[in-house]
Amino acid sequence: MQMKDNRLRHKQQQSDESRRQNRVEDQVKLTCIKCGEFACYSDDLRCIKGAHHVVVDGSFTSRFETKPMKKPVPLNNGMTIQEVLVCKKCKLDWGNLAKFEGKELPLIHTKGFLFDNAMGKRKTMKKWKEVWFQIKDYDL
Ligand SMILES: [Zn+2]
Repeated sequence: MQMKDNRLRHKQQQSDESRRQNRVEDQVKLTCIKCGEFACYSDDLRCIKGAHHVVVDGSFTSRFETKPMKKPVPLNNGMTIQEVLVCKKCKLDWGNLAKFEGKELPLIHTKGFLFDNAMGKRKTMKKWKEVWFQIKDYDL
């Protein structure tokens, strides 16, 4: 006679929960935390030296505006921050525009965005260390 294992009787909700814990790399949508305007997808993010997060999607430039800073801030890796990056629609602070050897790199911080995952769950992130998805490295 065969014994039935009750533990095998999973509910759908429980399997959803375990999938979440496995940190499935879904495409995550970043939207402005204030006005809801689309910013970029997680696939368009790259990490510079484990510290800065740049958006590599070329069309991202049409979604932000920049404001000059009083004083440029040099970073320890040869980049210089010269402008503040804000949401084009509501002017919320999204990050900084860094310059490196003539290239302009839009760096964003997490607190300006809502992170929308495939299951429709929206999250706020205080730090990049908190994000559950993988971000590829960017070579300067
Ligand atoms: Zn906005």
